[in-house]
Amino acid sequence: MVQQGQIDHLLQESGEIQPPAAVAEQVYLKDFDAEYRRSIEDPEEFWAQVASELHWFKPWSQVFQWDYPNFQWFLDATCNITYNCLDRHLTDGRKNKAAFIWLGEDGTERVFTYGRLAQMVNRFANGLKSLGVSKGDRVVIYMPLTPEGAIAMLACARIGAIHSVVYAGFSVGSLRDRIQDAQAKVLITADAGYRRGNKVDLKGISDEAVAGLDLVEHIVVWRREADKPSLGPKEVDFDQLMSENSVHCEAEVMSSEDPLYILYTSGTTGRPKGVVHVHGGYMVGIYYHFKTFWDVKDDDVFWCTSDIGWVVGHSYIVYAPLIAGATTVFREGAIDYPHPGVFYEVIEKQGVNVIFTAPTVLRMLMRYGESYPQQYDLTSLRFLTCAGEPLNPEALRWANEYLCGSGKWGYIVDNYWQTETGGPCLGTTASMAGRPGRVGKPLPGVVMDIVDREGQTIEEPDKGGLLVIRRPFPHFYRTVYGDPDRYAQDWGTIPDCYLTGDVALRDADGYYMVVGRADDVLNVAGHRIGSAEVESALVSHPAVAEAAVIGKPHDITGESIKGFVTLRVGNEPSEEMVAALKAHVRHELGPIAVPSELEFMQTLPKTRSGKIMRRLLKANELGLDPGDITTLEE
Ligand code: AMP
Repeated sequence: MVQQGQIDHLLQESGEIQPPAAVAEQVYLKDFDAEYRRSIEDPEEFWAQVASELHWFKPWSQVFQWDYPNFQWFLDATCNITYNCLDRHLTDGRKNKAAFIWLGEDGTERVFTYGRLAQMVNRFANGLKSLGVSKGDRVVIYMPLTPEGAIAMLACARIGAIHSVVYAGFSVGSLRDRIQDAQAKVLITADAGYRRGNKVDLKGISDEAVAGLDLVEHIVVWRREADKPSLGPKEVDFDQLMSENSVHCEAEVMSSEDPLYILYTSGTTGRPKGVVHVHGGYMVGIYYHFKTFWDVKDDDVFWCTSDIGWVVGHSYIVYAPLIAGATTVFREGAIDYPHPGVFYEVIEKQGVNVIFTAPTVLRMLMRYGESYPQQYDLTSLRFLTCAGEPLNPEALRWANEYLCGSGKWGYIVDNYWQTETGGPCLGTTASMAGRPGRVGKPLPGVVMDIVDREGQTIEEPDKGGLLVIRRPFPHFYRTVYGDPDRYAQDWGTIPDCYLTGDVALRDADGYYMVVGRADDVLNVAGHRIGSAEVESALVSHPAVAEAAVIGKPHDITGESIKGFVTLRVGNEPSEEMVAALKAHVRHELGPIAVPSELEFMQTLPKTRSGKIMRRLLKANELGLDPGDITTLEE
């Protein structure tokens, strides 16, 4: 009988994959184990050393203070994250280096050097000041994935305003709720965004979202279309604000604990919450992982396929790469538009060395098949990193073969994090052997554990339980905006730890496998099985592109499993296919995990950040209220 809180482990992953020698030899972090030990034995010394690589207006008097569950890093220090993103690089030889390479769906390419970016941020920051925005004010940014979106974020941070980016795929209700929750006095938006060649009317959505909201004093509109919409009484032109203001704007002196941004979680499981990150600790932590995990070198080209609407986009499109002085590619629109080979085309054309993407992207590429990657030269790609959802072993294997040349030039790894953690917690580094199905180990500075409901560590290998964090690191979130009780709950449900809400297993060598959200655990005849295990087994069948499973109440077994499946191009649903998939799961995991029902779908419901929404599938299946589905991709 499985103990309460424990999870059965069924999937037998095969073997390890080794980083190519050429990748492992030149990694920045050579001795992972020594680094990890150092970070845990004396975290204050460890993080202080990282912090000393960055610019501070005034140094800290104390590194860390913990008044459970609240904590502070770099007490009494003053800084501004944008000083480290911009000013530093104007004098360190990077002024004329490309900071951003932006790509449009239609093939447009715009390059911004550090020098030019700094000028634009300063101009816009002065523009915001002219509208009366000052330190501590909240500004909502509802912008397409463009340099102007990133400039809006940096300009807010420059003057100490707190930005809250709302993903430009969200609609009226979500935008309005977030403006109200953050009590924003300014909204920065655009006339249009582009996706799959279609124009998204952001201005129309913004108009509806702010209708009757007196708290919004100004709306700044970036008008990119030839046919510029006219501006209403509260509205100001983005470009005009930029051109009318000076290129000089001193970075506001911020306390290291002053909020940098509020970001609402993607809401895989419930009501979005306003996660608050701060200037000081956040810049230190995300910079550290950019250097040591992503291993980006000064002459590398880094591509992050996320969006500024998500935490990954905040940390690894905008802030960390700029702090490190890197060159980052980002691209507006759909990853398979205008053709399924465009992902590979970008790698070849830009000479991309390091990618940060998500399993949903790899599964989509896999669905189109290997004829596309075979048409491009992908040999520049050294390191392919993935986060956001369980990376199914089959998707990893496929990407390893077709994107990384089966280890001839590239290495693919997983990493795990949350909006709350600001950066990665678990991962396989560029010098570490990978274990398909397993994310990797806790990264330096991160003390993770797997516990039962009483908070007791589950020592036994591969008997999983609740994934928790034992100690806050500098880039961990500080609170939930306007709802400190919700923050306290995150640290209060299980004694002495932060509850991630995920379930995980750990093997004898310390590799973690995240098997899904705790809410999605299947309970079949007394066996608690993570959704990811059954889904990965389904995805390992050559006909399957994606899979989601849910538990349905069952009189005898407690729950029975229902699977939802999308097929790879060239396969059709049939009774024979159902039988074949069931037999395949039986072979991979055993009879206990075989879905009693399978349904074929064209697409699976996902959050706008690409995470499968099992909660919605379950609600539909059982005729229940689906709860908050504002984050659902339409
Ligand atoms: P969000 O805060 O919206 O970024 O979502 C965080 C959640 O995404 C985590 O709590 C996990 O459920 C999931 N997640 C992120 N990265 C991974 C990963 N590498 N493997 C499995 N699940 C992941």
